[in-house]
Amino acid sequence: MKCNRCGREVQECDSYTHRGETLCEDCYLDIRLEVKACDPWAVYSASRFRESRDLKGSEGLNELQKAIYDFVKSKGKVTRQEVMESFMLSEQEMQRQLAILRHCELVKGYKEDGKVYLVPFSQEGILA
Ligand SMILES: [Zn+2]
Repeated sequence: MKCNRCGREVQECDSYTHRGETLCEDCYLDIRLEVKACDPWAVYSASRFRESRDLKGSEGLNELQKAIYDFVKSKGKVTRQEVMESFMLSEQEMQRQLAILRHCELVKGYKEDGKVYLVPFSQEGILA
């Protein structure tokens, strides 16, 4: 099957359905981020907060976000499933924390052998 947004070939097990569209993980996350941007809790305000206080790296993150970031750093690469299980997060909570970490350029997606991992943002590698 194909992603309705970018046209990339996606495996059924890696695909997401959002409002009737079939999406790859990247497009799905992008949409989720767009949705977040309309939220008062927005990623945007988090980044403004960080900018206004001249925060760098993991400064300004809450304890959970720091813990996830440290987890990803210590492991080098983790799957979202591992993070969710280790921190007992729901899918929704995971998306929310991940959105912040991605936005703050601390964690990024990395694709290897058809699987998507989370890796530290500064790590060499192809963006998933
Ligand atoms: Zn796509």
